Amino acid sequence: MRVLTSDRLDRFFATLAQTWELRLPILLPDGTRVIGSPDDGPIALLGIAILSKPTAAFFPQQETLFTASGGVLEEPLAPPRPLFVLGFTPRDLACLRFIDRFFADGWCDDIYFRLRQNSVVAGLSGYCGPGGTLLPPAGGDCDLELFWDGNSWLVIPYSEAGEAIVAELPDTAPPEAVELFRLAAMTPPDENEIVIKRASELLRGDRVPDSFWAEIGDRCIACTGCNLACPTCTCFGVQDWRTATQVERSRMWDSCQLDGFMREASGHNPLGSEALRTRRRIHHKLAADPERWGEISCFVCGRCDAVCPTGIGIFAVARELVARFG
Ligand code: SF4
Ligand code: SF4
Repeated sequence: MRVLTSDRLDRFFATLAQTWELRLPILLPDGTRVIGSPDDGPIALLGIAILSKPTAAFFPQQETLFTASGGVLEEPLAPPRPLFVLGFTPRDLACLRFIDRFFADGWCDDIYFRLRQNSVVAGLSGYCGPGGTLLPPAGGDCDLELFWDGNSWLVIPYSEAGEAIVAELPDTAPPEAVELFRLAAMTPPDENEIVIKRASELLRGDRVPDSFWAEIGDRCIACTGCNLACPTCTCFGVQDWRTATQVERSRMWDSCQLDGFMREASGHNPLGSEALRTRRRIHHKLAADPERWGEISCFVCGRCDAVCPTGIGIFAVARELVARFG
């Protein structure tokens, strides 16, 4: 366990930038925090929740698949340097692990792995949450982790890449900081986890009537915020942009809350009502994915509840569902 004092952070990141393309928590002019390039704004490791999904570093909202010009196809080049992405909580890391599996399954998604392979993933934890609240330690699902003890950053490596990155830092973590880290790692599961598991059981047991979804779906204004914020939402649409000399094919995040999401060429829409689309959003995470992948694909990060303007993020719906049916 190493120590990084605040006055050494800039130097630490400048050294990393020689090898890695950095993606760090950044403060935008509107006061929000996102994970972005240091060129986008000042680095902000402490503060309000990061509502943009950290998995967007590897699965961006829009990306070019190829360009075609004069009968020649060209795929975008891999970035000159691999990514170093800092800002994952333990729940975000579970989301990343899930979408790693998703994109590697069957037809391995080379566009995703062009960014993901050789990347370094770093957790951010400790008393650096909103108002100094505790973000539990990220643990070994990442290459390294920065843990804020209130005075300085403990830096804990978990992989070979992580070991190499921290090698130059002083190995002098004070015993009280190490103890703080140990206690923080014992944070019990929160109530939302329990509610999500129970809601999953009810959905898989077919205990939720259609009338429930009609009522919840009525509250959706199709803003798509829930899908755009969710680190395990992986749906995208494909589009071509044509100029006089070339065509660019790109993909862009899609949203299952939009009317056109599943509409077929014939005009038939298997998700033709807000009730069906809302049911699908929740059912997919809590019932379909456990069947397909062996685990619930909501890792309780809280983003969809934080962004939903009408109060029907997954916790809110799961709480209502459990209160009524079980
Ligand atoms: S809490 Fe919402 S945003 Fe987070 S993983 Fe679950 S469904 Fe996605
Ligand atoms: S954030 Fe809420 S209102 Fe917006 S699309 Fe999602 S469920 Fe509907």
